[in-house]
Amino acid sequence: MSQKTLQDKVILVTGASSGIGEAAAYGFAEAGATVILLARSEEKLNQIYDDFLAKALPEPVIVQFDLESAPEEAYFQLRDHIGKEFGKLDGLLLNAAVLGQRTPISNYNWQTWSKVMNINVNSQFLMARTLLPLLESTQEHASILFTSSSVGRKSKAFWGAYAVSKFAIEGLMQTMAEELENTSKVRVNSYNPGGTRTAMRQEAYPAENPEEVKLPQAIISDYIHLMSNASHDTHGQALTHQS
Ligand code: NAP
Repeated sequence: MSQKTLQDKVILVTGASSGIGEAAAYGFAEAGATVILLARSEEKLNQIYDDFLAKALPEPVIVQFDLESAPEEAYFQLRDHIGKEFGKLDGLLLNAAVLGQRTPISNYNWQTWSKVMNINVNSQFLMARTLLPLLESTQEHASILFTSSSVGRKSKAFWGAYAVSKFAIEGLMQTMAEELENTSKVRVNSYNPGGTRTAMRQEAYPAENPEEVKLPQAIISDYIHLMSNASHDTHGQALTHQS
């Protein structure tokens, strides 16, 4: 039998309980990877776990984790858990995020601002920094993929903390990419999936007909490519889905 694209790789997906993260997790598993599914909803993660087994996909690992409130110690525990179970990490898809308010900055609520920054920026830093040694310990070229957005590259009115958080992600990606350029086999990129039919998209565009927006499955080949050895020399890039 021919080797699958992501055979023997271990990939952590944040926000794996729905939308793009869920679809990416299925795509990675179908391409042969063992997927670590991370989100808050244990019920949803358990359903996905059962479905993976029913479909004879590689047995995943479930991590129930709140990126808003988890203390730094929880990230070290996660690193140790993955290290003990697999001894390495080949891919880190930092996908989980929240939208926050769609309102002018003059009206933006501080609690919401802090929540968006905690989930969309601070947790991504903690995850990337803490798991980097595991990504560096793989024999292969490991991949860190941050998730961006159009408003993370050119902002628009009323996108508030969400847009600012995605700009921060681009900065984090560029900083890490330059630091690792000549010293590590780990590659770091950001990817803007573009409008995709998920709960977040509906929240952002409630008047839109969801049928007119592409399904997450339409972009999964990009994610598989960016986790595969075929993209090992793609580094420090702000990528966008090309429809
Ligand atoms: P989604 O359907 O709302 O899914 C978000 C995921 O993040 C869920 O699995 C959710 O799981 C998880 N999450 C939220 N808060 C969390 C927390 N505190 N701790 C742990 N996990 C948390 O969103 P999506 O549309 O798939 O978006 C995925 C990524 O693509 C995001 O980074 C988004 O900014 C980006 N993006 C999306 C679009 C689009 O059109 N959909 C466009 C551009 C960029 P739980 O609720 O179980 O925790």
